[in-house]
Amino acid sequence: MPVPVLPPLNAAKNYQNDGDSVYRLFYDTVKGGDYRAREANVYRLAEVSNNIIDQCVAQGVPFAREYGGTLDNRSFGGAQVSRTFYAKGQTGQQLLLGAYSALSRQVNVGTVKLYTRYEMEDVVLIDGRARGIIAKNLVTGKLERFAAHAVVIATGGYGNAYFLSTNAMACNCSAAMACYRKGAWFANPAYVQIHPTCIPVHGDKQSKLTLMSESLRNDGRIWVPKKLEDAKKLQEGTLQGKDIPEEDRDYYLERRYPAFGNLVPRDVASRAAKERCDAGFGVNNTGLAVFLDFSEAINRLGIDVVLQRYGNLFDMYEEITDENPYKTPMMIFPAIHYTMGGIWVDYELMTSIKGLYAIGEANFSDHGANRLGASALMQGLADGYFVLPYTIQNYLSDQIQVPRFSTDLPEFVAAEKAVNDKIQKLMNIKGHRSVDSIHKELGHIMWDFVGMGRTKESLTTALAKLKEVRKTFWSDLRIPGEANELNVELEKAIRLADFIEIGELMAYDALNREESCGGHFREEHQTPEGEALRHDDKFSYVACWKYTGEGKEPELIKEDLNYQFVKVQTRNYKS
Ligand SMILES: Cc1cc2nc3c(=O)[nH]c(=O)nc-3n(C[C@H](O)[C@H](O)[C@H](O)COP(=O)(O)OP(=O)(O)OC[C@H]3O[C@@H](n4cnc5c(N)ncnc54)[C@H](O)[C@@H]3O)c2cc1C
Repeated sequence: MPVPVLPPLNAAKNYQNDGDSVYRLFYDTVKGGDYRAREANVYRLAEVSNNIIDQCVAQGVPFAREYGGTLDNRSFGGAQVSRTFYAKGQTGQQLLLGAYSALSRQVNVGTVKLYTRYEMEDVVLIDGRARGIIAKNLVTGKLERFAAHAVVIATGGYGNAYFLSTNAMACNCSAAMACYRKGAWFANPAYVQIHPTCIPVHGDKQSKLTLMSESLRNDGRIWVPKKLEDAKKLQEGTLQGKDIPEEDRDYYLERRYPAFGNLVPRDVASRAAKERCDAGFGVNNTGLAVFLDFSEAINRLGIDVVLQRYGNLFDMYEEITDENPYKTPMMIFPAIHYTMGGIWVDYELMTSIKGLYAIGEANFSDHGANRLGASALMQGLADGYFVLPYTIQNYLSDQIQVPRFSTDLPEFVAAEKAVNDKIQKLMNIKGHRSVDSIHKELGHIMWDFVGMGRTKESLTTALAKLKEVRKTFWSDLRIPGEANELNVELEKAIRLADFIEIGELMAYDALNREESCGGHFREEHQTPEGEALRHDDKFSYVACWKYTGEGKEPELIKEDLNYQFVKVQTRNYKS
C-alpha cells in the first residue's frame, strides 16, 4: 500500500537560526498571497504559529527530530528559510490523530457529543442570528434538527468543483453554499490554488489526482528539454528523459527565478509549467507534463539519504505510474489543490450572519490570492486552537443566557421543509445522466475556462456553459434508490448542485477581477515576461459576493485592503 502524502506545517520558531522571525513569516505570507490578504489577520497567524507546534507536540504528534532531539525542519515554496515542521510524509495524518485523541478525551469526560455520519444541509436563522442546523443522517437518510447558541462551520474548500483535484472525494462546499444562500457573503471565490507537483492526468476514467509533496522540490529539479525535437520524441515515446544530456535540459525555474529556483511559490511554478507545455515542450504522451528529477540529488547526497527523506513518496509514485523514480525522472503537472476563497469572516472569524462562524479552509482565510506550502494547516489549526476559542466568547458573553431554542419553532420547520423539497425535486428528475457524468462535464468547463489562465472571453463562455450544465442537471439527472435510506448518489447530487453554483460564482468573481494576482491569472493582465500584473489602484480589495436569489447575478461588496506594515510591491522571486 502506498503511504499517503500528508501535509507539513509552518512556524516561525527559527530553530535553524537562519534568520526566521514572526515578522518574516508574516511578510512571506503577505507577499506569497500577492498582497491580497488582510494584513492584521496574517500577523496574528504568524504570531500563533509557534504555539501550534507546542500544542501539537503536547498532544503527542511525532514531528521529525534531529539527532540532538530538537525538531527538524524542511523548506517549502516561497520562503528562503527552513520553517516547515513535518512527520515523515504523514504530518497531516499525525496532526489529525493528535487532535482526534484530544477530542476523544473530551468525549470520554462528557463535554463533547459526536454525531458522525451526518451532513449539515442548512443553517437555521432566527431573527437574523444563526440558531441551529438541519442535518441529514447519512445512514437512515432522515433529516434532523439541532438548536445551538452559535454555529461554526469547518467544512473545507470547494476544489472538487473541478471534478479532478487532489482533494479527498467527499470534500464539498455544500455547507458553505447553504450559509451563502442564507446571507453569508462568499469572499474571493476566484482564488483557487493549482499545485505544480501532481501526477499528470492519464485518462478519462480517473476520479481523483495524486499530489506529490512540495517537499520534493527541496532536492528535485524541474526541467523540460531545450529542443522541441527532443520533446516530440518524448511525447512519441521514442526517447527517455534520462537519455537527454545535461546541456540539452532547461531547468526553467532555476533559469527564470535564480533566487528561489525550484522553490518558487505554487502559482508561479504552475504557470511556468503551463507556459513550457503550451510552447510544446511537455514530456509525456499528452504533452502535459514536466520532469521532476532526483539524479543530481542522488549523486550529491547518495541514494540512502534520498530514500530516507522521500522514500515513501517515491514508492507511492511507483505504485501509481509503474515507473521507478530512482532511475527515471518523475513526471508532474499542475492540478487543483486548495481554495483560498471561502465564506467571508471578520477578524473574530464571524461571518456576515451573527452567530455563524467559519474556520479552516471553509473561510476566505489569510492567504490572499495564493497560499504558500504548509500554511493551510497553520491557518486551520490557528483558527481552531488559538483564535476561535477566544473570539467566540465575545459573542457568547451576552448570548449564552438566551434559553436554548426549541427545534419546533417555525424557522426550523421551514428550513427542514426546504431541504426536504430540494431532495424530493432531485429524486423526481428521473432523467438519464449519472451524477458523475455531469460532474465531469462541469470539471472540464472549470479547468478549460476558469483554470490556470483566464480571459474575459473564456469566463463569459464558462458562464454560458455553466447555465447549460445547470439545466442538464435539473432536467436529466438520474438518482437510483430512495431518499429515506443510505443513498450515496443522492449525497453526491446534493453536492454537485452546489459545485455548479460555486462554479458560476467563481466565474463571476474572476470576470470582475480584471487583474492578475496569485493563483488568479487573467491573461490580458501580464508583464512582458509573463508574470502576473496586479492593478492595486482598482482591485486592492476582498471581493465579497452576496446571494440575491436563484439564477440571479450576485451582488458585489468590497472590503478595502489597507497595508500599514508591509510595503506593497511587485512580487519578485528572481533576486
Ligand atoms: C493531498 C493534500 C496535501 C496537502 N498538503 C498540505 C501541506 O503540505 N501543508 C498544509 O498546510 N496543507 C496541506 N493541504 C491542505 C490542508 O490539508 C487542508 O487545507 C486542510 O486539511 C483543511 O482543513 P479543514 O479542517 O478546514 O477542512 P477539511 O480537512 O476538508 O475537513 C472538512 C471536513 O468537513 C466535512 N464536511 C464537509 N461538508 C460537510 C457537511 N455539510 N456536514 C458535515 N461535515 C461536512 C468533511 O467530510 C471533512 O471531514 C493538503 C491538502 C491535500 C488534499
